[in-house]
Amino acid sequence: MVGKVPVGGGSPITVQSMTTTKTADVEGTLQQIYALAAAGCDIVRCTCNDQEAAEGLAQIVPRSPIPIIADIHHQYKMALAAMEAGVHGLRLNPGNIRKPEHIKAVASEARDRNLAIRIGVNGGSLDPSLYEKYGGLTAAAMVESAMHEIAYFQEVDFNLIKISVKASNVPLMVEAYRMLAEATDIPLHLGVTEAGPPPAGLIKATAGISTLLLEGIGDTIRYSLTADPVEEARAGRQLLEALGLRERKNVDLIACPSCGRAEIDVIDIANKALAAFEHKKLPLQIAVMGCVVNGPGEAREADLGIAAGNKRGHLFVKGRNVAVVPEDEMVEALVEWAEFINEHGTDAAIARADTKLAEREAAKDRSQLMDEKGDDANHSAEKIVEIRKAVQN
Ligand code: SF4
Repeated sequence: MVGKVPVGGGSPITVQSMTTTKTADVEGTLQQIYALAAAGCDIVRCTCNDQEAAEGLAQIVPRSPIPIIADIHHQYKMALAAMEAGVHGLRLNPGNIRKPEHIKAVASEARDRNLAIRIGVNGGSLDPSLYEKYGGLTAAAMVESAMHEIAYFQEVDFNLIKISVKASNVPLMVEAYRMLAEATDIPLHLGVTEAGPPPAGLIKATAGISTLLLEGIGDTIRYSLTADPVEEARAGRQLLEALGLRERKNVDLIACPSCGRAEIDVIDIANKALAAFEHKKLPLQIAVMGCVVNGPGEAREADLGIAAGNKRGHLFVKGRNVAVVPEDEMVEALVEWAEFINEHGTDAAIARADTKLAEREAAKDRSQLMDEKGDDANHSAEKIVEIRKAVQN
């Protein structure tokens, strides 16, 4: 348990992030923690790098909506101070707290207080002797660093442990976690360290974390992005929702990539819909499709969708046409129908609609578009004729 949040042992995968404020700035840090919690963060880490930070933690912990973990580097005394401040857990870096008596002092205190500690091995700050032994940074070196630390903990009978072996190199990180999962049942905290700014950072972190989660490895996750930490929390939550590992609380907006058939600016409408649903907390899948020719069929699994055609928006529920609205009212109509579905369900939405009329209108627009654009909306056939002419000349 980290505070009231279970980690490991088959409990739901949790999302973590870390504040970027000075921990001594109590109000600023709490503000960030509240924003993180709202974005889907379950556990938050704050640095405890000096006495002021530890004193700040004493005021932050009782007012935080989620459990707090103190991040400790170099100074084992800061770990003791953070525990005194009431934190719910610690993260120690075995690469920079090396004296066995210091590690054991912290572990004994945590044992007496029933607090969990994460052994946070980081590829960038591995114990130099392990670098030497393995001839550089390898998965085995990171795993050995973690196992070394566990041995100290076990000497003082402490076993409320989590482990992470983060590296910024994705294949290396994946390999290290796989090795660790073979070697131990201890809960694992997953992350790609120093992933960098989005979108590349998001891609790297997602590649590493989701590969492992899909193999059943990992109990808690953190995106380490060079961005507002709220982005990290949001990404973590969205990844878990996308993998079906967390119940969806918000709209899952799907949209076609658009093509030559599109009757609207799909990117613009999808973004407008995203903004309109952002704070609505409707656990529905909603589709924005560029054309009525293929849209309702392609998105028939969605709870609700809209497809454009002939300057009109064709609303559909579970693939059934339910209404037609002017093109500039598409987003409002989506919101109105989504709220109805959230309250009454998709069957009620279909029942309240004149589906016959809506289907007739959709068929009309569909066939008009087919007449105008035919099967070859991207004009490939015309282009091929031109290419042949050009080549033959
Ligand atoms: S065919 Fe229609 S629904 Fe499919 S990508 Fe093109 S515009 Fe979107």
